[in-house]
Amino acid sequence: SALKLIDSSDSVASWKKNDPVPYSALCKTFDEIEATTKRGISDKIFPHGFASLAKIVVTICPEYEGKELGIGDSILMKAVANATGRSISNIKSDCDKVGDLGTVAEVSKKKQMTFGVGKILTVDKVFATLKEISGISGSSSQAKKIERINSLLVNCKGSETKFLIRSLEGKLRIGLAEKTVLVAISHASIISNIECKAWSKEKLERELESGTAILKQVLEKKKLTFHPYSELPNYDIIIPALAEHGIKKLHEICKLTPGIPLKPMLAHPTKSLTEVLDRFENINFICEFKYDGERAQIHQLEDGTINIYSRNSENLSVKYPDIMQMLPDVIAPGVTSFVLDCEAVAWDIKKKCILPFQVLSTRKRKDVAVEDIQVAVCVYVFDILYLNGKSLITETLRSRKESLKKSFFEQEGKFTFAKALEASSVDEIQTFLDESVAGNCEGLMVKTMDDGSTYEPSIRSKNWLKVKKDYLTGIGDTLDLVVIGGYFGKGKRTGWYGGFLLACYDDDSETYQSICKVATGLTEENLKQFYELFEPYKIDVPPSYYQFSDVPNIRPDVWFKPVQVWEVKAADLSISPVHHAGKGLCDPSKGISLRFPRFIRVREDKGPEQATNAEQVATMYRAQNLNSASGNVLEDDF
Ligand code: ATP
Repeated sequence: SALKLIDSSDSVASWKKNDPVPYSALCKTFDEIEATTKRGISDKIFPHGFASLAKIVVTICPEYEGKELGIGDSILMKAVANATGRSISNIKSDCDKVGDLGTVAEVSKKKQMTFGVGKILTVDKVFATLKEISGISGSSSQAKKIERINSLLVNCKGSETKFLIRSLEGKLRIGLAEKTVLVAISHASIISNIECKAWSKEKLERELESGTAILKQVLEKKKLTFHPYSELPNYDIIIPALAEHGIKKLHEICKLTPGIPLKPMLAHPTKSLTEVLDRFENINFICEFKYDGERAQIHQLEDGTINIYSRNSENLSVKYPDIMQMLPDVIAPGVTSFVLDCEAVAWDIKKKCILPFQVLSTRKRKDVAVEDIQVAVCVYVFDILYLNGKSLITETLRSRKESLKKSFFEQEGKFTFAKALEASSVDEIQTFLDESVAGNCEGLMVKTMDDGSTYEPSIRSKNWLKVKKDYLTGIGDTLDLVVIGGYFGKGKRTGWYGGFLLACYDDDSETYQSICKVATGLTEENLKQFYELFEPYKIDVPPSYYQFSDVPNIRPDVWFKPVQVWEVKAADLSISPVHHAGKGLCDPSKGISLRFPRFIRVREDKGPEQATNAEQVATMYRAQNLNSASGNVLEDDF
């Protein structure tokens, strides 16, 4: 009965709740998704049941578990060579031509003589093995991984091989944005409800619509009291809860939980203090120093376990043993569990002052021993989201601040409440901004205090505005861009890359869109370091998910895999005849590019998919003064 599913993908009624889903059914769906460029394909994604299917599409392990599935090419090539009887060098050379190891593996497997029919892979089996592989570490881990991969590969047929390899690489690359997956999960949860078999077509459509509406609220970032995925970004918990309780009850079950990092609230850039005052006219707001360090979400569970997570939900506890050691001293009696939103900032113990971000970035990330720490940190706490078993995110910022002050003690140079001022005039805010900059901070965060001041996980909220010190000279904010190519250097830069092609990320199409070349702001030290860093990530062919103009002035000498994010400052943005960032959003056929881009720093805390997205680029373009020359089409720099 399981196999019947492959050929009955349009029939909701034939699905039976406990049927094992064959992996081939999932891969057939992936093939269809890959072949379509249409939006709104969510109904196709999980036609039969959904629990294990959804998991396999979106993630193998949440980031905070620290188990990544991004298996390196060398291991995968060895596994493909083993499973297909081809040499590694042949596989590598095919891969250089085709640009996708998954496709090479599929073709290689098809050419191979096979004996017998092999086992039928089920989604559950594949998922369990992938999860097992992600957890393998320690001695002879490479051999163990290859052995587990081979146990699947020998039984793969057709496109199963391609998708298995891509899953192992950590990315399916079928043009399926995570938000489409969320809508599909909601539909699947309704369809897989056994009662729905008795529903009329109209009733089913109504239910699908209402399920989608609930998830759409999340997606459209409306003000909500319900954000299961943002509050509890773990599909291993959300999907079984959906299966058991249905979408309408999800918010009662999937709530902020200490030990599971939530997606942090983000701020809107502003270009002037008057813009801040216009936005917050007649609204109570607070200005806080914008500390320039690393975001740190600190969780304490009821059993006393403490964990620190990055902006990216990565577990930072091993990076900051000094914070872990200090925390018990600042927690007031009676406090049993909490979640704090903070910035960890480099601190000069002798001079008792904040040090710039560059100093913090010299700290080791792994295996840090308290005795060896050269750069001390001070935690500046600006929000509390959970206290003693209760989520505080729907309370006002004023009330959260009160809870914070009652529950923690300050300790100079170790744990301090973010410096704040309830200001009302431009002059007062300007003085506070100057003070923050003089104290090695980046500027101010301005936040609503009462009305509309709930904590909005994952949302870039208009209730949090950021004012950076150089907003007057630039475009209000820096951009975080992905390095996708390099240009060989000339003159003094011979032997290294002299410039780089950068891209923003478009999360709708899951593509990287070229935005500018950058060659300034890079020191000799940087150039040397980047030349070595990108060496293992060179690729011969740009992947299909890079969007760029294939013209001599743009095509880089070397393409790179999308592995690193750089913070870049620019004079302004312009409509570009050659770059693809936000193509179609501000001009029907042209993209947007940066003028006079300048490298600022590497963003270790952001993955490529958290780079500035196409919509943000378009918003920045629209926000800039349209009377300036930047509204015109200009030649790109460099
Ligand atoms: P974005 O997340 O908006 O793309 P980003 O990660 O580059 O941008 P910034 O533009 O620097 O971040 O602004 C938000 C960051 O500022 C927060 O993620 C946090 O790390 C930091 N920050 C420092 N001080 C505060 C504060 N008082 N309140 C909130 N965030 C603060």
